[in-house]
Amino acid sequence: MIKNTDEMNKKENKKKIRKFNKPDALIVGAGPVGCVLAERLSNVNNLTCLIIDQRDHLAGNCFDKRNEKNLLYHRYGPHYLRFKKKFIFNYLSQFTKWIKGNYVVKSIVDGKKYPFPINITTLEKFFKKKFKSKNELISFLNQKKINIKNPKNSEELILSKLGREIYESFYKNYTIKQWGLHPKNLSKHVAGRVPIRFNRNNLYVNEKIQVMPKDGYTAMFQKMITNENIKLKLNTSFESIKKKIKPNILTIYTGCPDSYFDYKYGKLDWRSLRFSFRTYKKKFKQSCVQYNYPNEHKYTRSVEIKHVTKQISNYTIISKEYPTSSGQPYYPINNKRNNQIFSKYSKLIKREEKRNVFFEGRLASYKYLNTDQVVEKALKLHKKIQEKILTKYENK
Ligand code: UDP
Repeated sequence: MIKNTDEMNKKENKKKIRKFNKPDALIVGAGPVGCVLAERLSNVNNLTCLIIDQRDHLAGNCFDKRNEKNLLYHRYGPHYLRFKKKFIFNYLSQFTKWIKGNYVVKSIVDGKKYPFPINITTLEKFFKKKFKSKNELISFLNQKKINIKNPKNSEELILSKLGREIYESFYKNYTIKQWGLHPKNLSKHVAGRVPIRFNRNNLYVNEKIQVMPKDGYTAMFQKMITNENIKLKLNTSFESIKKKIKPNILTIYTGCPDSYFDYKYGKLDWRSLRFSFRTYKKKFKQSCVQYNYPNEHKYTRSVEIKHVTKQISNYTIISKEYPTSSGQPYYPINNKRNNQIFSKYSKLIKREEKRNVFFEGRLASYKYLNTDQVVEKALKLHKKIQEKILTKYENK
C-alpha cells in the first residue's frame, strides 16, 4: 500500500515536472502583472503557468514582510493602494479582505509640518493668513501665480498654479533630490501627480476607494496564485531559462525591455531608491504615515507604515528613502532621450506580440504606473490574449 502511494506520488511529481518544463504560459516576473495573468490564465483558461522571478519573493515592488517584531513593512517603499475603477477593486477583493487606507502626508519646511498635498490649511500656515472664502484664496493666489499658458514641464506647472514661493519651498528641491534632475527637465505629469486643493482635504490621493490589503500585499498575491496549475520559481532570471523553457502557447514579459533586446538601441535610464529601516520600541514616532523633506537630508521622505497597516504593537518601523541613479529600476525617467529609445523598442515589442510574447507592467511599458493601473492593464491583456490567441487553441 505504502509502496503504491509512493509510486503514485513519484508519477505525479514526474507529471508535474514535465508540465512545468513545458508550460502553456511562461510568465517572467512575479509582480502584480505576472500574478494577475497567472491567476486568469489558470483559473479561466485552464492553462499551466510557470512564473519566474529573479528576486527571492513574489509581489514585485509591492512586497511586504514581517520583521523580527512581527511588524509588517513595505520593503520597496509605501504602496498607498487606491482605485479609480470599482471593477479593479472588485477583482482584487477575491483575494483579500481590506482595511481602510488613510494616507496622510506632511511636508517639513523650515522645521514646520505642513499638510501635503497643498491645501487651504497649508497655504494659510505658510503665508500666515486666514482665507475666509475660496474666492479670497483664489484671488490671493492669482497674485502669486506666474502667468504661463501651457506649462511644459514640472517647474512651469507649479509656478503657474501656486507661484514661486510654494514652488521653491515644497517642490523644487524635493524633485531635484528625487530625480537628480531639475523640474524644468521633467514632464509636467511628474509634479502633476500630486493634487493641489482649494479645500481642507488632507488625504494624499483623491480616489474614493483607498484601502490596504488586510494581511498585506504579499499575502494577497500569494492567494491569487494558488491554482495547482501555477508554479512559482524564484531566484531565476529570464536569461538563465530562456533557451531551456519554451512555452506551448505564450510568454508574458514584465521586465525591462532594453535587457530583453540585449540593449540593441541602448540602455533606458531608471531612478532607483535605497531604503534604510529602523525599528523603535515606541508605539508611534510620527504623527502620520509620511513626512516629506524637500529641503533637508539626503532622503526624500520618512515613512511609518504602521499608520496604514494599523498593526497593534509596542514597536514601530521607520523607513527612509534615498534616491540613487544606480540600483534596481523603480521610476522610468521619461525624458526625450529615453522616450525615443523606448519608442524604438516598442516597435520590436509589437513584433514579439506576433510570436505570442506580450510585454506589460511598469518596467516593460516604461511608464510611471500605480498598482491599480497595472492590475487593470493585466486584466485587459488577458482579454486580448483570450480573443486573439486562446480562441484559436480552444477551437482546435
Ligand atoms: N513632489 C514634490 N514634493 C513633495 C512630494 C512630491 O515636489 O513633497 C513631486 C516630485 O517631483 C515627485 C512627484 O511630485 O517626484 C510625485 O510625487 P509622488 O509622491 O506621487 O511620488 P511617488 O509616491 O510615486 O514616489
